[in-house]
Amino acid sequence: MFGGVEAGGTKFVCVIGTATGEIVETMRVEVTGPDETLDATIDFFRRAIATGRRLDAIGIGSFGPIELRPGNPSYGSITTTPKAGWSGTPLVGPFVKAFGVPVGFDTDVNAAALAEGRLGAARGLKSFVYLTLGTGIGGGAIIDGQILHGLGHSEMGHLAVPRHPDDDFAGVCPFHGDCLEGMASGPAVAARYGRRAEHLEGAERESAAELVGFYVGAGIRSIIYALAPERIVIGGGLSALPGLVAAARAELDRQLAGYPRLPEHGQPDFISLALLGGQAGPVGTLILAEHAIARPVLGG
Ligand code: ZN
Repeated sequence: MFGGVEAGGTKFVCVIGTATGEIVETMRVEVTGPDETLDATIDFFRRAIATGRRLDAIGIGSFGPIELRPGNPSYGSITTTPKAGWSGTPLVGPFVKAFGVPVGFDTDVNAAALAEGRLGAARGLKSFVYLTLGTGIGGGAIIDGQILHGLGHSEMGHLAVPRHPDDDFAGVCPFHGDCLEGMASGPAVAARYGRRAEHLEGAERESAAELVGFYVGAGIRSIIYALAPERIVIGGGLSALPGLVAAARAELDRQLAGYPRLPEHGQPDFISLALLGGQAGPVGTLILAEHAIARPVLGG
């Protein structure tokens, strides 16, 4: 039995369960300051242990950017986030201190990718990319069965994308303006149309699906050329926009322009919708916990 924390920017979802997706307890903590939020999160697991639960490891999937290099003094921490008060907040350390068990740590997006790979739309694949479209856009790459890491973690939401010929929207990314996230995230849709995607109807909804699909298809071109994944799995709240996936497939086909002419890229499941919905993140943290037992990193 494992503990898991999906540490998002507005809420922490705490779960207890197995790495095969069986969740027996769950609690949401609204995010306030780091100390208060972490105390409430740790309390949840303490209470569970007091009632007889045994946690063999804990997994944390966090909003980023985070430090993932085990030898780095900041390992296990959020690094430079625009979220007030949270820059430099250690996440792994407090859990190691409180519970003395292995603590797995990665991004919330990579955690969700692991879950879709084990139980969802990428089951059985060794190499795939999970893209989440929501308040932000993030991508998690599993390549040859491993989460892709380097100096840091992937930041696929900030890929450069070509501009749609009829689009003069400036983009909402505070760093790049018109990167993928700047043009196709939930806030980009809200800024374009004056309301959130789920409240759009008729021609506006079709237009939003077309534009977001255009930019997502263009982003997937870069992902394909860089990483050669077997599948792209799309999740996140915005992925429910009707017509979006069809628009992304059509744009990807145009963008690839017949190169390298792999038939798989044109298959309907090459771009698949995620299957686990909001469960992907929490279940992924339980898989991170399982990984931590196999490869313990007691940083912090
Ligand atoms: Zn950007």
